[in-house]
Amino acid sequence: MQKCDPYLNMDAGTLNPSEHGEVFVTCDGGETDLDLGHYERFIDRELTKKSSTMSGKIYSKVLSDERKGLFLGKTIQIIPHITNEIMNQIISSADNSDVHIAEVGGTVGDYEAMAWIEAIRQMKRKVGEENVLYCHVVYIPYLGVSKEFKTKPAQNSVRDLREAGIQPDILFVRSDEPVNAEAFEKMSLYCDVEKDAIVALPNAVSVYEVPLRMEEGGIGNYICSRLEISCSKPNLKDWSSLVDKIRSNKPSITIGVIAKYMSNEDTYLSVFEALRAAAWHHNLDVEIIWVDSERIELSNKNLEDLDGILVPGGFGVRGVEGKIAASRYARKNNIPYLGLCLGMQVAVIDFAREVLGDEEANSSEMNPDAKNKVIYIMPDQINVDLGGSMRLGDYEAKLNKKSRSYLAYGKTKIIERHRHRYEFNNDYRETLEKAGLVIAATSTDGKLVEIIEHKDHPFFVASQFHPEYKSRPDKPHPLFRDFVASVKHRKSLLSSKSTNGTIAQKKPQ
Ligand code: GLN
Repeated sequence: MQKCDPYLNMDAGTLNPSEHGEVFVTCDGGETDLDLGHYERFIDRELTKKSSTMSGKIYSKVLSDERKGLFLGKTIQIIPHITNEIMNQIISSADNSDVHIAEVGGTVGDYEAMAWIEAIRQMKRKVGEENVLYCHVVYIPYLGVSKEFKTKPAQNSVRDLREAGIQPDILFVRSDEPVNAEAFEKMSLYCDVEKDAIVALPNAVSVYEVPLRMEEGGIGNYICSRLEISCSKPNLKDWSSLVDKIRSNKPSITIGVIAKYMSNEDTYLSVFEALRAAAWHHNLDVEIIWVDSERIELSNKNLEDLDGILVPGGFGVRGVEGKIAASRYARKNNIPYLGLCLGMQVAVIDFAREVLGDEEANSSEMNPDAKNKVIYIMPDQINVDLGGSMRLGDYEAKLNKKSRSYLAYGKTKIIERHRHRYEFNNDYRETLEKAGLVIAATSTDGKLVEIIEHKDHPFFVASQFHPEYKSRPDKPHPLFRDFVASVKHRKSLLSSKSTNGTIAQKKPQ
């Protein structure tokens, strides 16, 4: 699978999460569009940098080839040079798969997308007409006033696509409500697409329901027959039982995510999906409460009703004091805590402040002048420029057998994905360990701290890496799974003490 993003960035690394949503990190350290996270969760395969292509990557390759003189004096043009490079990168991403799905982002008619549309049009000539299927996603609005579905916007976008030389083979029809047969007749006639090739995708209770709806509509068979592939019937038993579980009525827990990018739901997409997967595993629903970290700086009030606290990754000083306060609150009040990347760094800062008796202890990212920089850039990283000094992608770690995390993973060697610049400062390791901090995992050479925990706490685990990227809807990540288990346990203990004795029931959304 591959996401093609027509905007001019080289990758998603420098994009603002509040505008663009989460940066998803692949095992080989690619900083990509969040759609890759969806792809991995749906197909349960690890993807690589090659699965994320943006115009910046295409242009930069073409321009560097031009500087090397590889075009032998030719004028460099969008067609054929840019379009050829787009096709090359699609073909190279396909590797040895039988079928490659390349999603071109944006809307037909976007200036930036034109070269991409032209490239996929040419693809037909390059790999043979019988080997290409064009699938177009359209939206059909429902007009409540006149009680009718409007197919015109969809017809217009198909017309625009045809103008660019592409006749769609398949239409995926997004709508808020199930679309009626009349609208389908119209779509088939005006867009010139067989009825069997029009897939209805009305809003679903859960995004994980979508593959089941698609299969029910028979589109899998249609694709196989068009591409002349013989395929056995897919076994969707596990997937169906996941969806049944998601839809069932179950008790609910409340997890506070202490965050500063509050304007965009997608900023912590993989974290939210990992939390949900862990909750479903324990037959629970999860209510995720966003807690504005800048408000905690003023008061702990927003933390009082939470069953568990999660501090996700983040960059920069804004709101960090609130995150430190939240980790302290979880530590002191025995509330299950899961820290992810910055969530580990703030937990270290909180504990160090207490142990060292220095409320100014900090990360050098937040205060380069702090006396005790318990999180810092390692000396051999200092002179590397910003992009270069990031620890990105998979790194192996070894677990301490006496830790909570070892119980969760059930093994000593793990591989997890990273995206950070700062590290635990080893000058403080001994002091903090003596005071009760558990170093639950380190890099294989022992030099980099990968997980910290607190003893005598129901669950206080914080990792320097991002476990959320490896969680799957039906296979929650062990740290998320055990975090939620601890929340569930604590909540049932509390409720057995309370008068009504039940965990609050929550209706499915
Ligand atoms: N800002 C911190 C660092 O660069 C944490 C990064 C993160 O949470 N992904 O080390």
